[in-house]
Amino acid sequence: MKSFDVPIIYRSPLITAIKKKRKEQDKMKKDFTPTLLDFGPLQIYLARHFGFCYGVENAIEIAFRTVDENPGKRIFLLSEMIHNPQVNADLQAHGVQFMQDNYGKQLIPFDTLSPHDIVIIPAFGTTLELEERLNKIGIPTEKYDTTCPFVEKVWNRSEQIAKKNYTVIIHGKPKHEETRATFSHAAFFTPAVIIKDKDHAVELAKYIKGEKPPAQFYEEFKGQYSDDFSVTNDLQRIGVVNQTTMLASDTQAIADYLKQVMIEKYKLTIGNVEERFADTRDTLCYATLENQQAVSGMLQTNADLAIVVGGYNSSNTSHLVELCEEKLPTYFISSEEKILSAKEILHYNFHTKEEILTQYFLPDKNPVKILITSGASCPDALVEGVINKLEKNFAITRSHEELIKKFIV
Ligand code: SF4
Repeated sequence: MKSFDVPIIYRSPLITAIKKKRKEQDKMKKDFTPTLLDFGPLQIYLARHFGFCYGVENAIEIAFRTVDENPGKRIFLLSEMIHNPQVNADLQAHGVQFMQDNYGKQLIPFDTLSPHDIVIIPAFGTTLELEERLNKIGIPTEKYDTTCPFVEKVWNRSEQIAKKNYTVIIHGKPKHEETRATFSHAAFFTPAVIIKDKDHAVELAKYIKGEKPPAQFYEEFKGQYSDDFSVTNDLQRIGVVNQTTMLASDTQAIADYLKQVMIEKYKLTIGNVEERFADTRDTLCYATLENQQAVSGMLQTNADLAIVVGGYNSSNTSHLVELCEEKLPTYFISSEEKILSAKEILHYNFHTKEEILTQYFLPDKNPVKILITSGASCPDALVEGVINKLEKNFAITRSHEELIKKFIV
């Protein structure tokens, strides 16, 4: 895969060496066992895959290059570049301004823009409506478009389904930028509905099966269906696509469930189910799948706890947390600063959306085994910072430098 020029401050010598060595040993990416960093009383198991993905590195490279090549110009980002506070703060420090917050709330009015300004489209992509609005102002959107090719792949899949007259069901977080963009692209061609989880799919199925009054749909799915959506006509042929960062098992369960609903409702068989249900494989991206598989791999280790590093509003990171939580105490932190001491950690509970303080998070035993991973928008330097901070809490018998040598030879 192409390599990108991202600022060195996001890289980590230790993690770069580890990733390089693992890649050489496992070119086909079949091995999901974690890498053991044995510091003696502290044993860290690093996930086989984590950190910056293709789309994030591509977006960061384009954004910083745009800043370098356009001194004196006003540069805006439609919304957060990616869901990582450090990267976003760095861009703002370089003079880049965000036009909207993560929920689409306008921070800078569009009518303050002029054709001389640059507006960067973030990695999640954007809606056709916003693109059109910018073009009308005289701002070309193609030149500074960092939309990830894996997001565009979902749009292409939606278009293919649409051309065969299926309605597109989008499994995604209704307010997430990527889901809003995918919805806009799908709805341009065909009726579209967003569902956020399996429960939502079950409720949608009640309209397909005629178990709920159609009129109720418009209230229940408010803001999540395309204009002129007809609940009686537009749920007769469907296909499912996903936000690229959903939990693989959820996505599969939803597609299987809706397929079964169509089979029962229209008395179909596996052989002719395509008459009503488009044959789509999931549209999760490679990074989402690899990172989730790597978490499953590291959960085979008999560890004491897991630390997941990433932005609190990052969808792919929260799914890694969800997987870890099923097995062991898990702490979702945005940087090493959240490890306050050997006793205390400040971490994010994404279910209640609040940061909480936990005491005695490190067990009193020797060795302590900790699993570590991070989301696709998290710089490796932050993960190395977390490792450094943990090292300080133990009388380690092996230094960082010794470990790096092990991975370089
Ligand atoms: S998580 Fe996947 S879809 Fe999103 S930017 Fe990264 S590679 Fe692209």
